[in-house]
Amino acid sequence: MKKQPRLTARVLAAQIIRAALALRAQRVLPGTLGNISARVDAARIVITPSSRPYETMRAQDLPIVALADGAVTGPFPPSVETLMHLAIYRARPDVAAIVHTHAPAATALACLGMPLPVQLDEVEYYVGGAVQLAAHAPAGSAALAANVLAALGPRHAALMAAHGLVAVAPNLARAMQIAEAVEHAAHVFLMTLQVSARR
Ligand SMILES: [Zn+2]
Repeated sequence: MKKQPRLTARVLAAQIIRAALALRAQRVLPGTLGNISARVDAARIVITPSSRPYETMRAQDLPIVALADGAVTGPFPPSVETLMHLAIYRARPDVAAIVHTHAPAATALACLGMPLPVQLDEVEYYVGGAVQLAAHAPAGSAALAANVLAALGPRHAALMAAHGLVAVAPNLARAMQIAEAVEHAAHVFLMTLQVSARR
């Protein structure tokens, strides 16, 4: 297989903004919630800034964060969930993009404290197994980063209790597909739960 050429931080930042706008259109990033990042090289990631509207975001607004010590370069502070992103990149060399959404069906399951089983084959295909639930911890905390890492294991998505969904992949396009597929499967699972409760 041909190796993909390495993209510059600015090109990755532009891709991240396009992805964020697509997720806004899917109604899974309410307000300025959620965050997206990509690995620039062995030492750095680029990530959405904290609490800034996606619609007016420019590629140069996205901070670059050092993997080793979290040092930030850029005009705005990085996402509040930067610790979680850094922990995943450090632990998972196969991951080069992370998408964190507040997609409603996945978040509903996460609020109910329920993992998403492999009810549809596509969950196995996209995630590599059931989507496990990370225990609750405050947003942005090291505890939440550790809980998400444990729930991910070697898989490609995890639910975050009373919070949302995280999808990880070798590239941004795949992370987007995983986030969308998990939300769809979570929606179907919730519908089946509603019908079986009435039988
Ligand atoms: Zn969040």
